[in-house]
Amino acid sequence: MAGEFQLFFATLPSPFVSNTLSFEWDMSRLKSLGLLLSVSLPAVAAAQSTEPSQAFSYSATQCPSCEEWNAPQAPFKIFGNTWYVGTRGLSAILIHDPRGSILIDGGIPASAPGIIANIRALGFLVEDVRLIVNSHAHSDHAGGIAELQRASGADIAASPSSAPVIRSGQASRDDPQFAVALPFAPSVRVRTIADGETVHVGSLAITAHFTPGHTAGGTTWSWRSCEGSVCEDLVYADSQTPVSADGFFFTHSKEYPNVLADFERGFTTLESLKCDVLITPHPGASNFFERVSAHTLVDSGACKRYAAKARAALAARVAKEKSS
Ligand SMILES: [Zn+2]
Repeated sequence: MAGEFQLFFATLPSPFVSNTLSFEWDMSRLKSLGLLLSVSLPAVAAAQSTEPSQAFSYSATQCPSCEEWNAPQAPFKIFGNTWYVGTRGLSAILIHDPRGSILIDGGIPASAPGIIANIRALGFLVEDVRLIVNSHAHSDHAGGIAELQRASGADIAASPSSAPVIRSGQASRDDPQFAVALPFAPSVRVRTIADGETVHVGSLAITAHFTPGHTAGGTTWSWRSCEGSVCEDLVYADSQTPVSADGFFFTHSKEYPNVLADFERGFTTLESLKCDVLITPHPGASNFFERVSAHTLVDSGACKRYAAKARAALAARVAKEKSS
């Protein structure tokens, strides 16, 4: 059964622009990027401050897709207690309960004000967000989390591989995109969760399924949502793309030797999940908005097709590496 999609139209603020201070970055990474990175510097102490933390901002050179990703999107109901509060190109999901809400992902640093505005436009309090979780700790999904934590006071739960990245704002060495990964503001109160662990907030329950490969800490989240007597299993399936910086090879990586086996484990997990509604960190990766418009969001085959497409893309990447 497809749920009703209530659309809400919000006036969103223009993208957040912060003061820019120079930020010293690992010189080897600067060399590999071939450009001088200048990002605004958030004081590490900002999380303890009562003032809004200065967000990192990325230039169009550093992040050519950021402007498009961060285009405003009016929030809307996905199903039951689950709402889309992200930007046009980066998902952020609010699972709402008056006794405490859960937020999944925070976009890039500049996405946070729009996500907060979307939550408020729905009539909810950002202060009701008690827990923030993440798909994977790249700047386009975890970049806004520090500011969202500051605004809400929420705790954060993440996989053991993602947690240090979210705490530091710095990519880990085993990240296939390590050499080009943009830093983001560090968060506090990040606790680690186990594969298969269910996290509870009020009456809400959301389960972590580790689906590594795109990053070692990649996590898919599942929960059940009801509208009256109709209940659906929702899955926020992490990115499964074999994207890397130049010089990283999925077929033979010293930094991430298990990457191919990890990807396969994740595909198998995605195929095994109860999955009525598929949501992805990049909405375009699963034609999310098209499926919303067509009222075809409830589709128990969507996760299996998502995994199959990802498996084929990884096989193509492996074949390319072996032939070069
Ligand atoms: Zn990513």
